[in-house]
Amino acid sequence: MICREQPRVRFVHLPTPLEAAPRLSEALGVNLLVKREDLAGLCVGGNKSRLLEFALGSLREQGVDTLIAHAAEQSNKLRDIAAVAARCGMKAVLLIPGTRHPDDAPPQGNRLLFDILGADVRIVAPGLDRACVMAAQEAVRDEFAGRGRRPAILDRQLDYGIDATVAYVDAAEELHRQLAGAAAAPHSVFIAVGAGMTAAGLALGLKHLGSPMRVMGVCIAGRAVELAPEIERHAARAAERLGLATRLHAGDLTLLDDHAGIGYGVLTPPLRDVIHRFARLHGMIIDPVYNARVALALVEQIAARRIPGGATVVYVNTGGSPAIYDYAGELSAGGEGDRSSHAVAAAGAQ
Ligand SMILES: *Cc1c(COP(=O)(O)O)cnc(C)c1O
Repeated sequence: MICREQPRVRFVHLPTPLEAAPRLSEALGVNLLVKREDLAGLCVGGNKSRLLEFALGSLREQGVDTLIAHAAEQSNKLRDIAAVAARCGMKAVLLIPGTRHPDDAPPQGNRLLFDILGADVRIVAPGLDRACVMAAQEAVRDEFAGRGRRPAILDRQLDYGIDATVAYVDAAEELHRQLAGAAAAPHSVFIAVGAGMTAAGLALGLKHLGSPMRVMGVCIAGRAVELAPEIERHAARAAERLGLATRLHAGDLTLLDDHAGIGYGVLTPPLRDVIHRFARLHGMIIDPVYNARVALALVEQIAARRIPGGATVVYVNTGGSPAIYDYAGELSAGGEGDRSSHAVAAAGAQ
């Protein structure tokens, strides 16, 4: 176990299932296996649950009792921070940009779950730059420290980012083990790339283990050319933490630009169709923000004959299904409305 020595608090159901998907496979013309990170447990599953096992490991050793984070209103990260705080008897203080109008319908999806999970939700101005977001979090940290609590900021630039990558080195080892008995060597594994920490860990772990499977990262929140060096950096930080000599280079994985179009969090007709298709052929819900875009990229790669017919391909469902309820208008039978407001609500989700 590569991550054996890392401090860790256990609450995720591992290993997550690696499922055959016969009806989807038949429709797509490949042998599709689905890695169900969405069934990881904690609250509603997802890749953030896995990383919080490692984050909480070191935060608990430091005596932290208050978790502070900033992200979008539909953030899966914030939902899982709220859930883990509840599980471990801590307090979660969540900073979200105030994009809601007083006349809007009641909050849905993850934003609703923040309230149910008992988080202290603070509204900050939308569109803040990094320095302002950090300053807002530091002000909250000082506020809680002043009350005698032990607060910590969970930010991508801090240990949280390394934890996310370390967690997916662990997931890579798990997947490698699950595939050990497979008849044919898998061709590739498709996964969403937001900030790239998850894909970096998966690719680093698979490279370290000598897996021939190629990681196909679908870039949701930025362009491939910009994310490639970020992914190298995330992997290098994690390799250093884990004491691995393996280094990940951008050429070790394939980064695909998202072709689903018109902006982060916007649900287009092709995305709606692929959500319906995966649901109706596998009984699985994929989220509109990340995994539906990965599914579309997979379909596109198969159509372009970049994947040999019948090849074994792994599709990682990284979770995020609560977002679906925020798109009820477009996703219910025949529904299509203009929901461009989602681009704002989801912006910067991680
Ligand atoms: C955060 C998130 C991702 C992206 O993870 P990164 O490490 O930021 O690339 C993918 N899918 C879902 C559902 C997420 O919540």
